Amino acid sequence: IIDARDVHKRFGSLEVLKGITLQVERGQVACLLGPSGSGKSTFLRCINHLEKIDAGLIRVAGETVGYEERGGKLYELPVRAVARQRRGVGMVFQRFNLFPHMTALENVIEAPIQVRGVARAAAKERALQLLERVGLADKAGAYPSALSGGQQQRIAIARALAMDPEVMLFDEPTSALDPELVGDVLDVMRDLAASGMTMIVVTHEIGFAREVGDIAVFMDGGVVVEQGRPSDVLVSPREARTQAFLAKVL
Ligand code: ATP
Ligand code: MG
Repeated sequence: IIDARDVHKRFGSLEVLKGITLQVERGQVACLLGPSGSGKSTFLRCINHLEKIDAGLIRVAGETVGYEERGGKLYELPVRAVARQRRGVGMVFQRFNLFPHMTALENVIEAPIQVRGVARAAAKERALQLLERVGLADKAGAYPSALSGGQQQRIAIARALAMDPEVMLFDEPTSALDPELVGDVLDVMRDLAASGMTMIVVTHEIGFAREVGDIAVFMDGGVVVEQGRPSDVLVSPREARTQAFLAKVL
């Protein structure tokens, strides 16, 4: 369902992605690891067309991200069409990015109402189900400032799910959390994976990657150094760079 081929991205003279190729099938979980600056976040942002790629191709659910293919040629999509594509891809960041002036429930119903034109009552009903699913039904009326980081992150997941994405991207969703809050967020992600959601997760939670991941991808310096089954890549990596990295994070 996600098909990235030879993706290149540069910021000025700095080439951040030097030909990333990754395929993720529907229902699979791909875990992305790599040192700081290796291009993990940039790659996720390219999948969501928050960054425009310089070369290569990314397809999500059969559509070319940011482009339309006609007669073998690529034509740039207008902003509205890009926005529509983006709705199919949910994203959760390291920092929870909730709207601080809105309650948990209001955060979750905002986009369905504003962007998709869902009726308020229906959006609310769905949001309550999603809050239930992330274990926070009792926090519907709470403001982000009254919630722990882990709770805020679970609200952020519910908010992304409210748009019914086909794919979820997570960028280090637990790395800003106190250790005791990490487990609850990983549990929600584990449930989501078990429900069949296609996910790309940037994470250094090796245990999670081994248990939940179908694919592990180790990136360094804008290239994929090694990818394969987590039980191979994370347990007995072939490449020296992967070994050195794992030795540091474990
Ligand atoms: P981390 O583990 O620290 O989150 P990362 O693997 O996610 O790292 P990226 O955030 O993708 O790495 O950044 C890769 C490189 O691209 C870095 O050198 C960064 O400074 C650079 N970079 C990222 N975004 C921009 C931007 N908008 N303009 C210029 N350079 C950028
Ligand atoms: Mg990053």
